[in-house]
Amino acid sequence: MAATQLVWFRNDLRTEDQTALADAAAAGGPVVAVYCLCPDQLRAHDVGGNRLDFTLRTLAVLRDDLETLGIPLRILEPGDFRSVPESLLGLARATGAERLWFNDEYPLNERRRDAAVAKAFEAAGVAVERRTDSVVRAPGTVLTGEDRPYTVFTPFRRRWLADLDPAQLRPRSAPRRRAPPETVTPGSVPRLPAGFEVGYDAALWPAGEGAARARLDAFVGERLHRYDEERDFPALDGTSALSPYLSIGALSPRQCLAAVLEANDGRLDAGNPGAVTWATELIWREFYRHVVHAFPHVSRGHAFRREYDDFPWRADDEAFAAWCEGRTGYPLVDAAMRQLRATGWMHNRLRMVVAMFLSKNLLLDWHRGERWFMEQLVDGDFASNNGGWQWSASTGTDAAPYFRVFNPLNQSRRFDPEGRFLRRWLPELADLDAKAVHEPSRWRGRPAAYPAPIVDAKDSRQRAIDAFRAHAGGAS
Ligand code: FAD
Repeated sequence: MAATQLVWFRNDLRTEDQTALADAAAAGGPVVAVYCLCPDQLRAHDVGGNRLDFTLRTLAVLRDDLETLGIPLRILEPGDFRSVPESLLGLARATGAERLWFNDEYPLNERRRDAAVAKAFEAAGVAVERRTDSVVRAPGTVLTGEDRPYTVFTPFRRRWLADLDPAQLRPRSAPRRRAPPETVTPGSVPRLPAGFEVGYDAALWPAGEGAARARLDAFVGERLHRYDEERDFPALDGTSALSPYLSIGALSPRQCLAAVLEANDGRLDAGNPGAVTWATELIWREFYRHVVHAFPHVSRGHAFRREYDDFPWRADDEAFAAWCEGRTGYPLVDAAMRQLRATGWMHNRLRMVVAMFLSKNLLLDWHRGERWFMEQLVDGDFASNNGGWQWSASTGTDAAPYFRVFNPLNQSRRFDPEGRFLRRWLPELADLDAKAVHEPSRWRGRPAAYPAPIVDAKDSRQRAIDAFRAHAGGAS
């Protein structure tokens, strides 16, 4: 009888277009799937209860989906990454596995974990097969003319598109049903470990690849063609809200881009502007993964631009608490922070607004915001989160220049002109009209329940520009 193939699932929790799974199944013989739950590691990475709850719910669906394919899923609980090699080896021995299959991940601790697993398996005589899956184009394959990694997005995107092999966008099918191994049965999915709290409305995020696929189809069918016009307006349903599914891999970037190709006459860089813009956002996702891979210092908590490691951020716990709790007195910031708290998700325009508000107007260390986001987000993803924060704080690749500070009031008037989003999340402003709702402090009869602004937008902007200019010779 053919030897068992062991497939290690990580942030690729699906059966369709899962490269390691597809290749392992093609190798023949029984397949056993495994997932390692590492609560201590998640805590160290600031991953919060919302994302973990979503992961566990997705694992329950995946276990059932795999079972119908004749593949039992076992869930191991090694605690942290250091114990993963031993746990996996134990299962490999118990199942008589011939090979271990997994898809690459790019943050530093994940790479170290994977190197340790590969070493332990090779020492034990079990082969290891690694695949590229969470990105269409593997880090290291999109390089400048001097063979260097890109640090600016636009030329990265151009290159990414220019030498893309269309085969890289072809999703793979789920394996066909096979006879399950005789001695291994599916395991149970653990409950949320102690210390993790769920704050989001779980009903917003139905779990599993079927739910992800249905959302993708609805978005592409109904909203993709006007994405470029609507994506910046948080009161509209203008974006896909697929990030949680992409983040844990209930959906693959190839599935998304293949859907764009189908809707846009086989093109990613021309044709319908909505389709082109959405494809570009998926390439941003790839860009930040390439950055994390090429510049491991960002995984160690450093600014991409190291000269900002000793930037004199202010220490102001009260201002930080006001930001976290949505009581800064700036309605757009506060509504966004409350959306995050209640749903585990925040609209992209607002992520930029609140991140800039924290790092510029409040002049607080962006790491604090990065951590708060990871703790709250259902789509928390190290590469995209770190990239987004460093962009906003002007410390990253291709970052916003430090002197271009969003004005939270202008952003509010421009991107929520009727104040619909503001009123949805700030019921205390429900009675204000479309003008007053953006700046309640300036209107007589300001609702008593709503705070006055904790900083002056203009003065705090100037304070930030002065501090950046003074630091590191004002490098922009
Ligand atoms: P859509 O607009 O429908 O875009 C489709 C997909 O493209 C997204 O699901 C996402 O996977 C990807 N994408 C879109 N914009 C970006 C971007 N700017 N950078 C990288 N990928 C992008 N995204 C995360 O997935 N996880 C995070 O932890 C995260 N943290 C962020 C923190 C900050 C400060 C900022 C400014 C951005 C962050 N983003 C993060 C990127 C972006 O805000 C979200 O991906 C997006 O809002 C998700 O909504 P959507 O699925 O409707 O996106």
